[in-house]
Amino acid sequence: MKKKFKLLLLLITFICLVFIGIMFYIRNVRYTFKLADKVSVNLNDSVDPAKYIKDMKNVNVYYESIDTSKAGIYKIKYTVKTNLGIKKDYYLEVEVIDNTPVIKVEPEVEPNPEKVEIKTTEPVKNNKVVSRTSSKGYKVEEINSVTYVNGILIANKTFSLPSTYNPGGLTSEVNAAADEMFAAAKVVGFEMKAQSGFRSYETQRKLYNNYVNRDGKAKADTYSARPGHSEHQTGLAFDVCAKGYACINSNFNGTAPANWLANNAHLYGFILRYPKGKTNETGYLYESWHFRYVGKELAAELYNNGDWISLENYLGITSEYSN
Ligand SMILES: [Zn+2]
Repeated sequence: MKKKFKLLLLLITFICLVFIGIMFYIRNVRYTFKLADKVSVNLNDSVDPAKYIKDMKNVNVYYESIDTSKAGIYKIKYTVKTNLGIKKDYYLEVEVIDNTPVIKVEPEVEPNPEKVEIKTTEPVKNNKVVSRTSSKGYKVEEINSVTYVNGILIANKTFSLPSTYNPGGLTSEVNAAADEMFAAAKVVGFEMKAQSGFRSYETQRKLYNNYVNRDGKAKADTYSARPGHSEHQTGLAFDVCAKGYACINSNFNGTAPANWLANNAHLYGFILRYPKGKTNETGYLYESWHFRYVGKELAAELYNNGDWISLENYLGITSEYSN
């Protein structure tokens, strides 16, 4: 009797172990990873690789977005790591199509940036017009059609840059500061780079017209700057992408590298240009990836212990299209 009981107990234990084993296999070993077949996007569209994952179970996925500034066929590499640590690479073919309209949209009348009112009767010297002060008492100057508030170059929805303003890329000061910041990020485990930096007036014009053609002007204005109004034309701003994370889209918000940037960018002279909840000041939705160089001193002030103050609020200026 006792022996029979022991045998039964052993059998039950055995069955339990087999059951646990099967459960473990199902939960941790069996994995699924499916990608979309083939994808095509428009020139300069931002590509979110996460969007093309059709199904995934029991895996961690690492990927990098692609540069869509030139038409062609590219591959997004997805590195898949299973729960048991097995690594496998998958590739998704992405065709970047240049469907820039052959100016179907009548080129807009040169956007008429709020012409700065000249109150003084001083003669114009060296194209320099000291015109007025901002609502916070800072000097607003227009030099060769470029607006500076308290000496800070401004490109937003109120103030535009002339089509001829072209630094040809990020300035050397910005590049040096970015290198320093990315090196510091690397120390804490983030591989970052400036994915989208300088954009010329002409590039922005094509991009914007493309969007207007596709979605209409009202909608395009909510997510794309009009030519001359993009901060990317200044050579002082860029969008950051971190390896393994969503790139230039709202899925980057709240991620570890986004939080690191929000808390450290000021140490290198950069500001989170479009902070959360400041849309009515900046004219733009929260962009956790867009940084603008202003130098360490001002950056530290705008950082405001993590509660970022917008540049518009600080300087006492608006960011609104006049039409
Ligand atoms: Zn940007």
